[in-house]
Amino acid sequence: MRILIAGGGIAGLTAALALLRRGVEVQVLEQAHELREVGAGVQVSANGMRVFADLGIAEEVLALAARPSHREVRLWNTGQAWVSFDLGAASLARYGQPYVTLYRPDLVAVLESAVRRADPGCIRLGQRAIGCGQSSGAAMLRLADGSVVEGDALIGADGIHSAIRAQLHGASEAEFTGCVAWRGVIPTEALPAHLALPIAANWVGPGRHMVHYPLRGGALTNVVGVVEREDWLDEGWTTPGTHPDMLADFAGWHADVQSLIHAIPQPFLWALKLRRPLPRWTEGRITLLGDACHPTLPFMAQGAVMAIEDGLVLARALTDIAEVPLALRAYEAARHERTTRVVEGSAANTRRYHNPILGDPARAAAHVEQELAAAPAMERFDWLYRYDATTSPIPTP
Ligand SMILES: Cc1cc2nc3c(=O)[nH]c(=O)nc-3n(C[C@H](O)[C@H](O)[C@H](O)COP(=O)(O)OP(=O)(O)OC[C@H]3O[C@@H](n4cnc5c(N)ncnc54)[C@H](O)[C@@H]3O)c2cc1C
Repeated sequence: MRILIAGGGIAGLTAALALLRRGVEVQVLEQAHELREVGAGVQVSANGMRVFADLGIAEEVLALAARPSHREVRLWNTGQAWVSFDLGAASLARYGQPYVTLYRPDLVAVLESAVRRADPGCIRLGQRAIGCGQSSGAAMLRLADGSVVEGDALIGADGIHSAIRAQLHGASEAEFTGCVAWRGVIPTEALPAHLALPIAANWVGPGRHMVHYPLRGGALTNVVGVVEREDWLDEGWTTPGTHPDMLADFAGWHADVQSLIHAIPQPFLWALKLRRPLPRWTEGRITLLGDACHPTLPFMAQGAVMAIEDGLVLARALTDIAEVPLALRAYEAARHERTTRVVEGSAANTRRYHNPILGDPARAAAHVEQELAAAPAMERFDWLYRYDATTSPIPTP
């Protein structure tokens, strides 16, 4: 069996590694001339680490990760803090895996080198997919240089603007969510000691929130601030913004938030876009995974983790079920409900994090305690973190 994967992001590389480890021939066709990730952070919860353990890369990931002890919610103006849940010992005890935070280029480097170790020729760079097709026995990927590559199945892992998705399900624009995100990575030594602790913090306030957490064993600190505003539509991850503009977006927020913004060497901002969940992903020998089929707002920190789970379940389906179109439909059936729940849950968190009640001193603390602090949060996420992509049922349609 030979599987084609369009796109070498976190989704495509994880799927490739899972397939290679099962002895399947894989070709990853990536448009970029080198595999690069934007210099930002990504959180990988226990359900994602379970996949990395199965793929034999957990040790490498842990060596580069940071392991925050807990997550706290902080109120935008007073700085009042609540422990929302324990990410360290409790994650290990409850879910058998740690909750880690990673610098994206580090994660992609681990995935890339594991794929290249398994098959040095697996990744082909500078290959832009422009379309696809299929016959009863093969899937075809058309590339921008005019060539056509053939395999038993084609997986579109080409992100939110997926060319494969557009061809299978019709071209459409991703919709602006009304939220703009700021990001920056700070050398932690530039921060005051109380902001350099190994904690993942989520500041919440009316119409905006800010998240920060350690990367690379604490050497770096990732900051993402999300603001409801309508005047910025550029979705490039590398468009620079200015400190005065970012400070204006968080005017009146706690001194710690101001310190974080001042310490960012270069803030970037981009418009958060989204698509409605597709009713189906698969067409015969072609399917989608990761952001290509379920782009997700980052408000549950699960978009990449869903892509990671997708990759393993897809590889299991393709190796357990002999007929390729059936295997792809089984993969979709196994993943559709869960990923849709994450897409919808992430969007629903906008209201929790940005609730106007947070501007009312009489009601703000009660909102945090009810919606975001310890017990309800842990229960709310149990279904998410307990999921085991290595054993979850793959129902044959
Ligand atoms: C601010 C922010 C914070 C986030 N934080 C988290 C987090 O903490 N935890 C988490 O789990 N998720 C997080 N996410 C979500 C996560 O980043 C994405 O879900 C994840 O990166 C999707 O991976 P992907 O491989 O599907 O897509 P992408 O990362 O977009 O990769 C797609 C790849 O396909 C390539 N490609 C595109 N078009 C073509 C083409 N035509 N031909 C060939 N190649 C092509 C691209 O070059 C790229 O390499 C966050 C997202 C944002 C915006």
